[in-house]
Amino acid sequence: MKKVVVIGGGLSGLSAARAVKAAAEKKGVELEVTLLEKDDLPGGKIRSVREAGYLCESGPNGFLDNKPSTMALTREMGIEGLLYKSDDNARKRFIFTGGKLEQLPEDPISFIMSEVLSIRGKLRLAADFFLPQGEPGKDETVAEFVRRRIGEEALDKLIDPMSAGIYAGDPAVMSIIACFPKVKMIEDQFGGLLKGMLAMQKMAKARGQQGPQSAGPGGTLWSYDEGAGVLPMLLAKELGESVKTGVEATALERKGSGWTVLTDGGEYEADEVVLATPAYAASKLLAPHSEEASRLMGNIPYVKMAVVCLGYDNGDIPHPLDGFGFLIPKKEGRKILGSLWSSSIFPNRAPEGKALFTLMMGGARSPELATLPEDELLATCRAEMAATLGATKEPEFVKVARWDKAIPQYLVGHLDRVKVIEREIAALGGLTLGGNAYYGIGINDCTTRAELIGPMVADKLTNTGGA
Ligand SMILES: Cc1cc2nc3c(=O)[nH]c(=O)nc-3n(C[C@H](O)[C@H](O)[C@H](O)COP(=O)(O)OP(=O)(O)OC[C@H]3O[C@@H](n4cnc5c(N)ncnc54)[C@H](O)[C@@H]3O)c2cc1C
Repeated sequence: MKKVVVIGGGLSGLSAARAVKAAAEKKGVELEVTLLEKDDLPGGKIRSVREAGYLCESGPNGFLDNKPSTMALTREMGIEGLLYKSDDNARKRFIFTGGKLEQLPEDPISFIMSEVLSIRGKLRLAADFFLPQGEPGKDETVAEFVRRRIGEEALDKLIDPMSAGIYAGDPAVMSIIACFPKVKMIEDQFGGLLKGMLAMQKMAKARGQQGPQSAGPGGTLWSYDEGAGVLPMLLAKELGESVKTGVEATALERKGSGWTVLTDGGEYEADEVVLATPAYAASKLLAPHSEEASRLMGNIPYVKMAVVCLGYDNGDIPHPLDGFGFLIPKKEGRKILGSLWSSSIFPNRAPEGKALFTLMMGGARSPELATLPEDELLATCRAEMAATLGATKEPEFVKVARWDKAIPQYLVGHLDRVKVIEREIAALGGLTLGGNAYYGIGINDCTTRAELIGPMVADKLTNTGGA
């Protein structure tokens, strides 16, 4: 009987454990999978809690269907009946600019036509059509790339808030290739962003598809009846006894071609270990075995965040809330990164007649705000609700979640460093890399990686004298 230990019980670890089991079964490998999670509950950053009729998400609110893996996993688990599709209105996203909310166009071409940019900004964006192509495959910061192609104003009003909304990150240091691979690919393939968007629109039309092509994430947002937390909760339920919560992996010791995983509650032997913790935790485990991998993993920064759920009477909000919510460019000088209109996105997120908001604070932009004492944090949120939505009444419901290390940041050169980490790990043997610190930070990235890890681990087990 072969043994696999997965370290980390967030979505990456849980979906990887399931995929490893399924792939081994397909190959006829007899396998025991153990998943170690240091917290008392599985799920990692995905936490959905219902209180006073409000459903609060401390982490993700859902996943997009622009990549198939999470939807496929949902179907394989037989829980598609629990899926909630976001309201059609949630396609409408806003930015808070010039002191007011403006609807954000879905693609750069309608961005030129919109009110968001000044005439000067529009002309600069349109100049992308005539500008020479950058060096294909060359990494640079998101800010450098955007400034070079579509100018400073588009950076400030479109890409800066988008970087904060997805990564809570700073475009001045984020890697264009690792953070927005599709955008860089459009330049590499078509010579420019507008040329690429037009060509893609033409190709889509030829295939009989309508509508603008998005250089952004695109797709429709989905969640589950009781929030994003349903997925890890049901994965853990399905994995049953394999999941050991409240068990922290404290060290890895070599044992033949495999490993012994030392924990605060005993030892686990493994032919193969899947590392699905955040990078800083995997860095500690690898320190005695690969100085280089450990150093590179330990250097992947994470940003702090506070996530504040506020519930109001509908009548206290002087806005129709007919959309997803809004993001705020740094130049506006506001204290929140943005606000999701959670009860407008999915049904059953708030009691009848009430509205639920999820405010994001901190990130690379203002880490100090994520650690404000609770009274100051809430006073700041109330002031931001008044300034952005004119909501001057007190919220009737409040819930705060804080993450000291919320989201890994992919800095310029990230993918080259991941290659070195992978090389070091491959040289050690008996290890597989998972978690959202390397190949994508979102839910879909975790489940896509799990789809790869399953067969990869099953192959390794059979190639080392397996079943
Ligand atoms: C505020 C916020 C909003 C987000 N919004 C979205 C969104 O809308 N859409 C989207 O797609 N993604 C979103 N994300 C990202 C999404 O949450 C992540 O992609 C996903 O949850 C990462 O899962 P993971 O398993 O890789 O990491 P984690 O969830 O961090 O899980 C790692 C686990 O490893 C455990 N661990 C660490 N060290 C050890 C050890 N030594 N031994 C045992 N266990 C250990 C930890 O306790 C943790 O449970 C958001 C994230 C945050 C923080």
